[in-house]
Amino acid sequence: MKRIRIKELLKSEPIGEKVTVKGWVRTFRNNQFVALNDGSTLDNIQLVLQLGDFEEELIKKVTTGAAVSAVGTVVKSMGKGQSVEITVEQIEVIGESDPEKYPLQPKKHSMEFLRENAHLRFRTNTFGAVFRIRHAAAMGIHRFFDERGFLYLHTPILTASDAEGAGEMFRVTTLSAQYPPLTEENEVDFSKDFFGKEAHLTVSGQLEAELGALALSDVYTFGPTFRAEHSHTTRHLAEFWMIEPEMAFADLNDNMDLAEEMLKYLIAYLLEHCSKDLEFLDQRLHQEEKNKPMDQRSPMGLIEKLQFCLQNDFERVTYTEAINILRNSKPNKKKKFQFVIEDWGADLQSEHERYLVEKHFKKPVILYNYPKDIKAFYMRVNEDEKTVAAMDILFPGIGEIIGGSQREERLAVLQSRMEEMDIPQDEMFWYLDIRKFGSCPHAGFGLGFERFVQFVTAMGNIRDVIPFPRTPGTITF
Ligand code: ATP
Ligand code: MN
Repeated sequence: MKRIRIKELLKSEPIGEKVTVKGWVRTFRNNQFVALNDGSTLDNIQLVLQLGDFEEELIKKVTTGAAVSAVGTVVKSMGKGQSVEITVEQIEVIGESDPEKYPLQPKKHSMEFLRENAHLRFRTNTFGAVFRIRHAAAMGIHRFFDERGFLYLHTPILTASDAEGAGEMFRVTTLSAQYPPLTEENEVDFSKDFFGKEAHLTVSGQLEAELGALALSDVYTFGPTFRAEHSHTTRHLAEFWMIEPEMAFADLNDNMDLAEEMLKYLIAYLLEHCSKDLEFLDQRLHQEEKNKPMDQRSPMGLIEKLQFCLQNDFERVTYTEAINILRNSKPNKKKKFQFVIEDWGADLQSEHERYLVEKHFKKPVILYNYPKDIKAFYMRVNEDEKTVAAMDILFPGIGEIIGGSQREERLAVLQSRMEEMDIPQDEMFWYLDIRKFGSCPHAGFGLGFERFVQFVTAMGNIRDVIPFPRTPGTITF
């Protein structure tokens, strides 16, 4: 008999029918009640074993973590907590799990412990919910762009350009680590390396996405990016996934509109497709908050926060306005910020971003028109010649979730910016070429996928929203 997934079974409630279910035992009470989960949904199905119907040897193997297959009849449940259950006729233990050694006991484990057991943490309610939501968010992203005619463009992961300057890069090489070939100057001779030059893992697909947009109009990437960040924060990974749309014939306003529309679409998509998992995480957050001091608790529950984001326009504020707000803010005047804001031109730290979002505006904020000196070379210089058409979207609890800009499409301006910033132009001939042949205004942004998943799951640490996090010193699994 074909297996039915628990999600499907709980939805259709085929009372009186005989079914086969397969999954992993969460708990086994009184030698009678098995809570079985197959990951298709948060809920378990209860298997009821009549006492005396099964061999003692078999019953002994039904332990937490074991993989089992059961055949039985679906009946209305007498107990509370579930509407239907299965009266089991046959049960088979497919994969045993020694209860003395199985790391996941039916009790609450710390997030740190679960991270060390990341190979098993999918089997908990929390991580089941997080990864179902992560999946749905990825589907929602593809749907959003597909509905709007954006092409999914696969940009390379191996790259020779290190000009983007978005972060420290990982080198990729096949040269011997012990005895690399050397040049006459006693430096590593990368002309002997696999690609004939130094290669790295990409920090962003943007530059290549721009090439696509200038022919295909609207494209987006969705792939892994790598940054050798040494920062041990709850918001940085060394390997993370990024979504980077790029639009031709678009300016900064179009860019902000697209970003806001996309975030709202995704939130609505998740509220529709993942309500059960979101309710679970909402409850979880509520419990966690109880252990925090009053002033550190978040003012809204998870679902309330998501609905709030949907219903309110994001606040669009220029960098200059933001600096004035920050300069006159209480924490700045009382020197409570670690980095006190004095002059226009200062780079904003996460403490400033959080102040603007969480204390001042109390909603998502789009900051735009940043000083050109603190931004990348490819951002379009504004008429004031002091600022560039850049925008960052800041979310409560997360800080920066999106970074984007209108790109500099004027060849001469771009060239002089590259000169100023010491960016080799010969290697980037392809990037300059599209400014020579049919250049046009274009814009795009990067959404950090894990930061978004963090926001919609209310998980405190970015390491808990990617299956196998890579951070300094961690690459197990
Ligand atoms: P931050 O200042 O937070 O380090 P950034 O300015 O380096 O971010 P961008 O280069 O603009 O970020 O990258 C685009 C997006 O990618 C960011 O808005 C963020 O959502 C995400 N992002 C950047 N670095 C990381 C990282 N190390 N881990 C996870 N997500 C990241
Ligand atoms: Mn960074």
